[in-house]
Amino acid sequence: MSALRIYLDHAATTPLRPEARAAMEPFLAPTSFGNPSSLHWDGQQARRVLDSARDTLAQALGAEGSEITFTSGGTEADNAALVGILLAHRGRGNHLVTTQMEHEAVLHTAGFLETLGFDVTYVAPDSSGLIAPEQIREALTPQTTLVSVMHANNEVGTIQPIRAIADAVHAHGAFLHTDAVQTFGQCPVHVQDLGVDLLSVSAHKIYGPKGAGALFVRAGIAIEPLMHGGGQERDRRAGTENVAAIAGFAEAVRVMLQERDCLAAQMTLLRDELIAGLRQRIPTVQLNGHETLRLPNNVNMSLPGSDAETLLLALDMAGVSASSGSACTAGSIEPSHVLRAMGLDKRRIQSALRLTLGRGTTQAEIERVAEILAGLANRG
Ligand code: PLP
Repeated sequence: MSALRIYLDHAATTPLRPEARAAMEPFLAPTSFGNPSSLHWDGQQARRVLDSARDTLAQALGAEGSEITFTSGGTEADNAALVGILLAHRGRGNHLVTTQMEHEAVLHTAGFLETLGFDVTYVAPDSSGLIAPEQIREALTPQTTLVSVMHANNEVGTIQPIRAIADAVHAHGAFLHTDAVQTFGQCPVHVQDLGVDLLSVSAHKIYGPKGAGALFVRAGIAIEPLMHGGGQERDRRAGTENVAAIAGFAEAVRVMLQERDCLAAQMTLLRDELIAGLRQRIPTVQLNGHETLRLPNNVNMSLPGSDAETLLLALDMAGVSASSGSACTAGSIEPSHVLRAMGLDKRRIQSALRLTLGRGTTQAEIERVAEILAGLANRG
């Protein structure tokens, strides 16, 4: 990335931080290459790295090491949670409850489960992107085995009342999964406080490497593995572990925990400054998502009368990387399923931009982006 560019797409991915890269380097060299499943010295060196990384993740999430399964990222963790629970608990029921605003990793997995004969209910959020625990309660049936509601949405940043949802789900005897990919790194993510049974996280959203993630599964809960083969990850995820990426992930978690609160406060200030700056310069601008129950780094604004794709291209030419929604749907002209689920009108959906801040974002960048956007929007 050129030093002159302004990167405001941290919800899509974040740059690898030097500490994480340094933690990975030994495992990319010919000296530390053992297979963690091997019983000899080389293997055991790698095993120790995995054990330590697992403890780091467990501590960060308030879990036990035995409750952490390393995966290839958030997508695999979400797939493993949904498919894993529904297949393992078929005897209890065949119903999944989720929301219309989940990431594709959950939505498309739910769709796949429907093709296998499972029933899925997709709960709609309100116009700010909030899911009410009451709506989840109403969707539960005697057949419901799992509920999956994301901790915070990747497009509009709305943070869900997971604890209250957990209480409703548990009163009914079902399991609760949350996709915490966007919150880990920005908000406290603690499995006991949230009251969840399964939780997904991803390394590349917290300045770790791409291709690593983890799934928390509460002790005593069985899941059917997606991957079949060796007995790695306590028979939950076959395949030789990505030792370098997992070491980088764990280091990213360690440093993230030290700076998270401070960084969240700093990003909240800059976020609010960007929102205020845009409101002041472009009177027609509309904020999408919740005013306060919002990720510290998320700004999602509609500029009615403008077209998001045209704006994004112009921003890119001006040196600013932003997004119109989730990275996975970028490049396609499909309107955002999240904004549609929130019931926003077509003009608002078509002109929605997502600007997501990161640890390197500066006040000067925020001011510059507000200026550039005002110039583009007021040009018509
Ligand atoms: N869940 C959410 C909420 C996300 O934002 C993302 C990434 O955009 C994912 C899951 C997928 O994570 P990964 O890219 O690690 O597969």
